Amino acid sequence: ILVAGGAGFIGSHLSRQLVSDGNDVVCLDNFYTGCMENVEDLLGSGRFTIVEHDLTKPLPDIPELTGIDRIYELACPASPVHYQKDPIKTFKTSVFGALSLLDLAKENGARILLTSTSEIYGEPLVHPQTEDYRGNVNPIGIRACYDEGKRAAETLFFDHHRMYGTDIRVVRIFNTYGPAMDPADGRVVSNFIMQALRGEDITLYGDGSQTRSFCYVSDMVRALVLMMENEDGFTGPVNLGNPIERTVRELAEVVIAMTGSGSHVVMKELPADDPTRRRPDISLAWEKLGWKPEVSLEVGLGNTIEYFKGKV
Ligand code: NAD
Ligand code: UDP
Repeated sequence: ILVAGGAGFIGSHLSRQLVSDGNDVVCLDNFYTGCMENVEDLLGSGRFTIVEHDLTKPLPDIPELTGIDRIYELACPASPVHYQKDPIKTFKTSVFGALSLLDLAKENGARILLTSTSEIYGEPLVHPQTEDYRGNVNPIGIRACYDEGKRAAETLFFDHHRMYGTDIRVVRIFNTYGPAMDPADGRVVSNFIMQALRGEDITLYGDGSQTRSFCYVSDMVRALVLMMENEDGFTGPVNLGNPIERTVRELAEVVIAMTGSGSHVVMKELPADDPTRRRPDISLAWEKLGWKPEVSLEVGLGNTIEYFKGKV
């Protein structure tokens, strides 16, 4: 099984699950936002190999990339701070990465899964978001490199499927959090927990009334494997996320309470194109995969806070 982006936050949890299920895993990563520490424990398993490669470049012709049965495509920076740092690179990673891996899937006769995103819905005019909603993305805004990159990757997946019969799976992930997130990646969960643990101000962008729905990483990994291994030919796209919607202000309050922090909430400017509301309709995931999240925000945050305590 090839996991592109396997040294990242979700990719490292997925790789660990796949190795513990008895699979041989090849992690392809350029360590742009991922790190060796996330996967160090897997190196001694005898079932885990790392190929350091940047997906904006053509794939190397190496034995590690032959005899592959499954490809999980997770290679793309996911935090706004990271994906906006070099937007052209982000776009190339999404689009060139998808195309290279689709061609690799075709060569190997492998099944391939794309981790797309709720961001393809942009500032949604339909709430909660269903898979048939085509979205409201600003194509020239600062989030477009990521949103449009993922939309283009979805296009490539479905065109490859129609042209060559490539066995594809497409999932749209909504905000996911947990241990192994980069403490400095600027996402809301990592920022709030690190700020609370350090006794720094909690930075609320805007008035904090915007909403997100937070899914714990173990629920997400379970869904990714279920989607990959469904034998009904169900390609998706399917929404994966936790349907319980919270305001960002509420999240700040929960984090302060759970860490027992003396931090104060301060308001900062809301970044451009920051979606106002986001909540997945997960009826399709339930119908096709029998999946819904099981880990509560309190339990998930508890584990994540413990992890971040080692990073302060
Ligand atoms: P992450 O940034 O922790 O992981 C991405 C991984 O991809 C990193 O290991 C990084 O080094 C690698 N990578 C980046 N550019 C690369 C390139 N050019 N070549 C090779 N490797 C490259 O992010 P994550 O949160 O683990 O997200 C994983 C995937 O899930 C991403 O594709 C992301 O778009 C998608 N997703 C995540 C979320 C979320 O809330 N975490 C939400 C929606 C979608
Ligand atoms: N956010 C915030 N303070 C922070 C980081 C993020 O208020 O320190 C807000 C951000 O403006 C957005 C939400 O939290 O409305 C989620 O941000 P994140 O970057 O985690 O992911 P997004 O869902 O926007 O891609």
